[in-house]
Amino acid sequence: MSIKNNRLTAEQYDQNFSDIHPPFDSRESALVEANRCLFCYDAPCTKSCPTSINIPKFIKQISTDNVKGSAHTIFVSNIMGAGCSRVCPVEKLCEGACVYNLLEEPPIPIARLQRYSTEQAMEKKWKLFERKPSIGKRVAIVGAGPAGLSCAHVLSREGVDVTIYEKESKGGGLMTYGIAAYKVTPRFCEDEVNYITSLGGIDIKYNQELGKNISLQELKNNYDAVFLGFGVGLARQLDIQGEELMGVVDAIKFIYNIRAGVYEEVPVGDKVVVIGMGMTAIDAATQAKRLGAKDVTLVYRRTQEEMPCTEEELNIAKLDGCRVIWLAAPAVLNGANGKVTHLVCNLMQLGEPDVSGRRSPIETGETFTLDVDMVIKAAGQIPFSELVNNSQLQHSNGKIVAQKDGATNIAGVFAGGDCVNGGKEVVDAVQAGKDSAASILKYLGL
Ligand code: SF4
Repeated sequence: MSIKNNRLTAEQYDQNFSDIHPPFDSRESALVEANRCLFCYDAPCTKSCPTSINIPKFIKQISTDNVKGSAHTIFVSNIMGAGCSRVCPVEKLCEGACVYNLLEEPPIPIARLQRYSTEQAMEKKWKLFERKPSIGKRVAIVGAGPAGLSCAHVLSREGVDVTIYEKESKGGGLMTYGIAAYKVTPRFCEDEVNYITSLGGIDIKYNQELGKNISLQELKNNYDAVFLGFGVGLARQLDIQGEELMGVVDAIKFIYNIRAGVYEEVPVGDKVVVIGMGMTAIDAATQAKRLGAKDVTLVYRRTQEEMPCTEEELNIAKLDGCRVIWLAAPAVLNGANGKVTHLVCNLMQLGEPDVSGRRSPIETGETFTLDVDMVIKAAGQIPFSELVNNSQLQHSNGKIVAQKDGATNIAGVFAGGDCVNGGKEVVDAVQAGKDSAASILKYLGL
């Protein structure tokens, strides 16, 4: 029993990490589904999309073989429509709202249809937007994730010259670095960033970190406006004894290593416990299993009713053979020779609702112990508190305080996405980038 790599054959790795939601196998299959759409007036699917994509319109365009028009309809509302078609939890958004659910029939596969159009646009490099001539205004954006890219695209279309400062060596943010490889590959993310920036007027400077290589004051001095979309990133620590033991790892780091695509080089245990029940926890658990771990157990301190992931995500984990222990919270990690060997958990019960509206977990006084050789911490990510607290920005618990339109307490500085909301879906960050771009254009007098 140990943490090791290279457990499976190359074929097994390929199979385990292949596309979880494969595209339509033919144009005809897409047309059959598009033609099922009722093209509802006041469509509930559109109302459930945070970026308000005109879903009946783009489906109608597919059904009339106007794929280019369909891609334009999607991208005009959500420039990351290709990525979102793969990673959005559509069962709780557009597809969850489709009227077919009321008829107890399968909803229209909106994400798959969206993928059908947007992937063709990317593959065929369709130029669907024209940038207006430069108007001589310059905006700095911090973070080349969904919020930053979405803000940049709207601004550049209007002739604003945009410079994005990105601390990593690639763009895409969490899409590139923090999502399961069987949903989006790093290659796809790179293609998506290139497709977005092919508009022109968007210069991405990589390996440039706010607070290290650049300061907010410099950006304020050198640009007409600044948008902050640097997300969240630090894994929430468990703050329990034994957390420093070998074999205790952060989920984001674990997922990040898998995304290099060299599966046989990623170490994984035989008895893996994942702490948490959000999307990242599920991505970590399923991928540990797909890397060849024998036992994977998710430990969550509340019940299924309060879990942050969707039913569909939970089902993926279960189908992969992951076990779930509800109402359990990590208490102590024990080890031998510096390596983790046991996780002691408190048995919990639910009390009164807390500020999140969910019932609070309370210790019952009983404990149980699990044999482990790897513990993956996926109890959420925390904001870059130090960076935010050391700035002049108004902040709350490490998050930037910004208005709905992205305005912060500093004139000319706007913010949106995870660094403001603490971590939501990719599609929410895209909308936040759009909202801020609209405010920046107004601020610039355009
Ligand atoms: Fe089509 Fe369903 Fe949207 Fe109605 S709710 S427009 S049927 S996708």
